[in-house]
Amino acid sequence: MSDATHPLALLDVDSLLVDEEKAIRATVRELVDAQVRPHLAQWYDEGSLPARELALEMGKVGLLGMHLTGYGCAGTSATSYGLACLELEAGDSGIRSLVSVQGSLAMFAIWKHGSEEQKEEWLPRMATGEAIGCFGLTEPDAGSDPAAMRTRARKEAGDWVLDGTKMWITNGSIADVAVVWARTDEGIKGFVVPTDSPGFSAPEIKRKLSLRASVTSELVLEGVRLPADAVLPEVTGLRGPLSCLTEARFGIVFGSLGAARDCLETALRYSAEREIFGRSLASFQLTQAKLADMTLELGKGMLLALHLGRLKDDGRITAAQVSMGKLNNVREAIAIARECRTILGAAGITLEHPVMRHANNLESVLTYEGTSEVHQLVIGNALTGESAFR
Ligand SMILES: Cc1cc2nc3c(=O)[nH]c(=O)nc-3n(C[C@H](O)[C@H](O)[C@H](O)COP(=O)(O)OP(=O)(O)OC[C@H]3O[C@@H](n4cnc5c(N)ncnc54)[C@H](O)[C@@H]3O)c2cc1C
Repeated sequence: MSDATHPLALLDVDSLLVDEEKAIRATVRELVDAQVRPHLAQWYDEGSLPARELALEMGKVGLLGMHLTGYGCAGTSATSYGLACLELEAGDSGIRSLVSVQGSLAMFAIWKHGSEEQKEEWLPRMATGEAIGCFGLTEPDAGSDPAAMRTRARKEAGDWVLDGTKMWITNGSIADVAVVWARTDEGIKGFVVPTDSPGFSAPEIKRKLSLRASVTSELVLEGVRLPADAVLPEVTGLRGPLSCLTEARFGIVFGSLGAARDCLETALRYSAEREIFGRSLASFQLTQAKLADMTLELGKGMLLALHLGRLKDDGRITAAQVSMGKLNNVREAIAIARECRTILGAAGITLEHPVMRHANNLESVLTYEGTSEVHQLVIGNALTGESAFR
């Protein structure tokens, strides 16, 4: 496809990026094209992911915890991190999830709320991809309402003892360290749990129809005994996990557009090549109306993402603004993926093309890091001052 016809070139979105951002984007795009894209259909089909090998490759180019500073992290801008997420998710939402959970959930929790010893112990190894992290907040009976969590940590002879079950945890079965949120007598607290601790297990959740190239697990904690200094000392209450979720949601604002872009590029290519009623599918007005509308939404989503990136880099972004970005961009991305699938006809339902894979993945992206309904409630709360959550 020539530059002139690329959907994002129509709006000249690149004119809003600085050279460093373009360079980081190019590095991630190259990595995805060389090491991820050629294998995706097979990984998706098999429901597997060589996450450890990939994490090491991503660590080599500084992708893990890239927007954090110190401890071997790259210290890039938030906008650059967003652009990296976009390129990763243009490959597959599962690949972006691997990086989001590692950097924005597990590493960020330790970086922001951890002790100096916890940071020194885990962050450098997580930045290189030698150690993998997961983030356990959701439970079988506590998703959108994490305050309903049952996992408990009690003090016993100077130690902490954790009991409970976490559900739908990305990277769970392959993690070396789990950041686990639990109820204590002092309120909700985070714990840094080495996954080889006795009483900890993480069975993988199988038979998923979405995010198949991603590891999703249950975390089972049965009397897991941890030393007193395993607790994240700098935060108590739900604002701890919520601060991490805002980080990860920000990555999704950009990431979801990567999946949408890949679908739209595929549909543009396919419609140019597909002959129907004696001419190309792209030459029909109905097809062009679809392509034009999708290009508009992709471009608008990109402008929104970049605006939020600049706000975050200025240190002024709010959680409600991140909710606006996540709600809009994931909702539009899934609409684009489904519309592109119609353009591909029957060919669109197979793994020969990435479109339905992206559409299926985006079902999970719509749900995790706050469902669409939760983000509507966050925005509604900001608009009216009334909380309608319960
Ligand atoms: C592939 C995948 C990976 C995940 N990875 C992680 C992870 O790494 N770590 C982690 O902690 N969690 C993870 N999650 C869990 C995810 O964050 C939760 O699924 C999500 O928060 C929603 O919770 P739930 O599934 O229990 O749905 P529920 O909370 O039961 O919601 C069900 C429906 O009710 C709606 N709803 C909820 N509250 C309201 C309300 N007040 N008013 C109206 N409607 C409402 C929701 O929007 C939704 O449509 C992952 C999920 C998936 C699918």
